[in-house]
Amino acid sequence: MGTTLRIGVHASSRGAGIAAIEAALEAVQFTDSLLSTWRDDSELARLNHMPPGQTAPVPPTLAPILAEVVRWSRATGGAFDPAVGALVDAWDARGGGRVPTGEELARALERSGAGAIELSADGRTWRRTADGAWLDSGGFGKGAALAAARDSLAAHGVGSALLDFGGQVLALGPDTAGGAWSVPVAHPARRLEPVARLALRDRSASTSSQSERFVEVGGRRYGHIFDPRTGRPVPAWGSVTVVARDPLLADILSTALLVLGPEAALAWARERPEIGVLVLEDRGGRVRSRWSPGLEAFLVQDSTLVRGG
Ligand code: ADP
Ligand code: MG
Repeated sequence: MGTTLRIGVHASSRGAGIAAIEAALEAVQFTDSLLSTWRDDSELARLNHMPPGQTAPVPPTLAPILAEVVRWSRATGGAFDPAVGALVDAWDARGGGRVPTGEELARALERSGAGAIELSADGRTWRRTADGAWLDSGGFGKGAALAAARDSLAAHGVGSALLDFGGQVLALGPDTAGGAWSVPVAHPARRLEPVARLALRDRSASTSSQSERFVEVGGRRYGHIFDPRTGRPVPAWGSVTVVARDPLLADILSTALLVLGPEAALAWARERPEIGVLVLEDRGGRVRSRWSPGLEAFLVQDSTLVRGG
């Protein structure tokens, strides 16, 4: 998945800990074999290469993941749109980057969105409607892999672990001291500078921003997350961190809420107390922070954040 995974576990013995970590890594590799779009032999890559118009069954291992993706794509009004493949190509976001012409952009928009790849609500049938349309797992693959790792660790009797997958964290059970795991949230533009701290137990925290991954064209930076409404990269306005029980959901929602923007993201989260949302706006180096009611329980109060500040 082009990133680093760190796993730490508490186990009854060194041997048991190593075995549990090995199994968790295998679960992550298995998820990669389902979802990777960087190789041609994953289940998703196979579906992405189906001839347009042909309905195909989705393997039972992949279907539940795609069902969640469809569900939350709808629940965010299409802000989460994994069928952005044609836009990724139009902007050459996986290569050196380019700015598409208006015509190219219109063409790519036609080949993205829920109409470009029709998925049933249960995730079990798939139909690609146009050439050039493909489903990109970049916005949910890490979350799906962390969910698989969590299940594997539970099956190995591990009740306490911390996983960090390229910035998305999964905190399981109590930490070494029996409390919650302390998880820093970085400044939206400077990833090495923590600006807030979360106390997490059996929760995952996922952060999305445009400043960490981008391409540069003609001196301008274009981020890797697209607004499906316009086909353009979302402006680099800040970051969204989502805390949820399910790592897949946290991953999906941090991407979706970055697309919606700060106001709409907070409005969306206000009605959902089971999800915590931290919105950091980068205002010329100064950070304005706001959060949803669901985040209160996780935000460490001695943290340097001042609401709205
Ligand atoms: P990261 O992978 O850096 O943690 P995200 O989880 O926010 O970041 O996922 C961003 C990736 O999701 C992009 O690189 C792209 O592959 C894909 N993507 C881009 N725009 C969207 C979108 N509107 N909805 C869903 N996935 C998207
Ligand atoms: Mg994501």
